[in-house]
Amino acid sequence: MNLFETIDKTEHEQVIFCHNKDAGLKAIIAIHNTILGPALGGLRMYPYATEEQALTDVLRLSRGMTYKAAVSGLNLGGGKSIIIGDPKKDKSEALFRAFGRFLDSLGGRYITAEDVGIDVNDMEYVYQETENVVGVHQMHGGSGDPSPFTAFGTLQSIKASLELKYGNQNIGDYSYAIQGVGHVGIELVKLIHAEGGKMFVTDVNQEALDICRDQYGCEVVGLDEIYSVDADVYCPCALGATVNDETIEQFKFDIVCGSANNQLAENRHGDELEERGIIYAPDYAVNAGGLMNVSIELEGYNRERAMRMTRNIYYNISNIFKIAKRDNIPTWRAADRMGEERIAMMGKIQQPYMNQKKVKFSGRVKK
Ligand code: NAD
Repeated sequence: MNLFETIDKTEHEQVIFCHNKDAGLKAIIAIHNTILGPALGGLRMYPYATEEQALTDVLRLSRGMTYKAAVSGLNLGGGKSIIIGDPKKDKSEALFRAFGRFLDSLGGRYITAEDVGIDVNDMEYVYQETENVVGVHQMHGGSGDPSPFTAFGTLQSIKASLELKYGNQNIGDYSYAIQGVGHVGIELVKLIHAEGGKMFVTDVNQEALDICRDQYGCEVVGLDEIYSVDADVYCPCALGATVNDETIEQFKFDIVCGSANNQLAENRHGDELEERGIIYAPDYAVNAGGLMNVSIELEGYNRERAMRMTRNIYYNISNIFKIAKRDNIPTWRAADRMGEERIAMMGKIQQPYMNQKKVKFSGRVKK
């Protein structure tokens, strides 16, 4: 892989390779774009088969964070980091503290958080070495489980989609097919139940399904049946790539709006939804509630503020729909455009000199 050619294509600002032999640390930090603010994105630990796979993953994920922060109106850039290793076997205090020291050396250009393979105990070690961590334990003033915020943001997105399709936001007048009732899905079930919506649910976890049926009146359906139920809104809250050639054929839905990441198997499936008159609320704008919630930690965590910010997802999704109409493009493309326009505009209003940190001249003697 030609490194500079690769990061030139993906438009990254900085890619840092971190190595500590004694701690067994092999990590990559990718800072994609910091025009809007410090790059924020999770730390992932995964036993990548090759270093090239690890680099490809961190470049892709960090770029995604730039877009997510930008469409969400956050003053944050995009970044991500990975540790190459098996989370079941290779974790140690030294590993995470060594990573924390590298992170600290970036002076706040990149702020990390938990992602796949990392838990709050690992973050405790990172936090011992640097302030530049969010999603820390609540005893340190951290924000705790982001799922209720992600679910609340998903509900706002559903309302914006209903408004576009039917001209009203009456959750209770419509029906929902919810795939996955884990952390986010169950919170969404509670919110829709509170407004009287009819729900179909599916999951591989029978216990979770029993709760949905017994406490929230949901109708339980089979794993593959969820794609063809007669519901108005499909809410993918489990897996990626569930909008694909096979499933689209079965859809009777008017709207696709859920919390799962990477819902479209390929971008062309977003085009196809559009052609079929099915509204697609872009996933990374819908599920930004979790990111908004942790971002509040940077100013001192306040749950009320996080909730208020998450409510704005309604307007973010509505604006994406407006751009799609303005430019006559599918919504997935409109989301990217909205992010790019915001970054470009904020880049233009910056006055380069004033934005530099004041240079300290103490100790210098002019002769
Ligand atoms: P989770 O693991 O708690 O829940 C996922 C649920 O999906 C589980 O109940 C699991 O049993 C179920 N599931 C697994 N395979 C399934 C299948 N084949 N069919 C139906 N259900 C299946 O995860 P979560 O935190 O609730 O996140 C849900 C989705 O939202 C994920 O795609 C995640 O990346 C995304 N997301 C979550 C957050 C958050 O705040 N938790 C933020 C942004 C995005």
